[in-house]
Amino acid sequence: MAKINLDTTAVESREQRLGTIVYWDGNAQELSEASGYSKKSKCGKGCDLCEMKGPFTQPSVCSEQMVECQAGNVREAVLIQHAPIGCSASQTLYNTIYRIGLASRGHKVENLKISSTNLTEGDMVFGGVQKLRLTIEDVWDQSHPQAIFVGTSCATGIIGDDVDSVAEEYTAKLGIPVVPLHCEGFRSKHWSTGFDQTQHGILRQIVRKPTKKQEDLVNVINLWGSDVFGPMLANLNLRVNYVVDMATVEELAQMSEAAVTVAFCNTLGTYLSEGLEQAFGVPQARAPQPYGVLGTDAWLREIAKITHREHLVEDFIKREHERIAPQVEELRRKLKGTQGFISTGSAYAHGLIEVLRELGVTVNGSVVFHHDPIYDSGDTSQDTLAHLVDNYGNVDDFVVSIRQPFQFLTALQKHKPDFILIRHNGLAPLAARLGIPAAPLGDEHIAIGYNGLINLGNLILEILERKRFCQDLSKHVTHQYTDWWAAQTDPAILAKHPELIWEGVDQ
Ligand code: SF4
Repeated sequence: MAKINLDTTAVESREQRLGTIVYWDGNAQELSEASGYSKKSKCGKGCDLCEMKGPFTQPSVCSEQMVECQAGNVREAVLIQHAPIGCSASQTLYNTIYRIGLASRGHKVENLKISSTNLTEGDMVFGGVQKLRLTIEDVWDQSHPQAIFVGTSCATGIIGDDVDSVAEEYTAKLGIPVVPLHCEGFRSKHWSTGFDQTQHGILRQIVRKPTKKQEDLVNVINLWGSDVFGPMLANLNLRVNYVVDMATVEELAQMSEAAVTVAFCNTLGTYLSEGLEQAFGVPQARAPQPYGVLGTDAWLREIAKITHREHLVEDFIKREHERIAPQVEELRRKLKGTQGFISTGSAYAHGLIEVLRELGVTVNGSVVFHHDPIYDSGDTSQDTLAHLVDNYGNVDDFVVSIRQPFQFLTALQKHKPDFILIRHNGLAPLAARLGIPAAPLGDEHIAIGYNGLINLGNLILEILERKRFCQDLSKHVTHQYTDWWAAQTDPAILAKHPELIWEGVDQ
């Protein structure tokens, strides 16, 4: 269990806390054993996990963008990006996602409220603190938000602007939390540190000291997904408090009063769950994730135990098993012989593979964007990779790659799956060019719970209907890679033999 230190404004990065890696090649069983979480490691404790090194990386995502898509998505709050304007390039994408999320949850649809201090060359020389002050004052005059988040950037990290002092000054002056979020892209090799930094700031300055308990309230840490937890947990007479995206400042503040915290995915929720438990005494569900029948059963029983609803849970589980059995059987019949491939964040991928295997879909390969050898609780019940391997078998090709399209290409060439499930859908067109239909999982809750099996099964049947179209497409389009690289089938070949890169260049 990592000690959550709320005395400092900057979160400890994921690689420091959890030993996170972004590059690895092997099978799932080996990775699970090497992680040393619930399995005994052959090479030491979790943080000793060996990571591959490649000769280059293609552009990816950074922590600052994760702050943008979390702190920037809190209703009634404003995020200031203390950064050059280029760091705001993804605002258009996140604005679309935010608006769709608000609509799907029945909230008033609005645009993101994110401002930028728009740092320029002169600010790099003379400092950007004065611009930050002016931006905070502008934001306050324009909308009187209930909280202001200030996200840093590589540029402010380099020049060393004292963002903490400005945030402190304006917290006192405006009477609202002004929360510094240290998310310079270069601070961490994986973007998920940005999740942790947002949650760290919220734990420090927004969550209130509890004066009462709401015994039927469940914190659900998620992104923008549709409301599937609410109806499911209503069967146990529980209410849901969705955080962080699209929550109000008050909904964040009341997290300390909840009976229990759960997450749609441990990658996202590990820090906040542990922080709420350590700092405010809110227990987290020490259980597998709610994917597939096996995981959902265990997850519901754990929530029922913590909230003293054991008398309700077994009936609900029994009813749900009976309800979905014929539909799952039919889906298994239709999906027989189908091969799938997963490319998402790590704990989410573990859950999706479990659902696919319960549906009878073959999954021999996946590319996950990073790997946390352990989660913040240190509790082995949350070891999602071991849960997958122990209950559903090995995944032969389990590549960890920080969203590198060149490796994604070789992995797909090797496996030639019938379809892929992908979360960061910028990679989906590459699959289509190879004749493989993709389901970009815009609604991350699609595979959750008992309904998740049916939803995901039907989605796969839908995308399989596009296979012929993608195959036709692939005959008429090209991709940007050389024939030499396109003929490779080992995504990690350049890490193993960096000298080969010149073979590709000479071609
Ligand atoms: S914070 Fe750094 S890595 Fe992230 S977008 Fe800005 S310059 Fe790029």
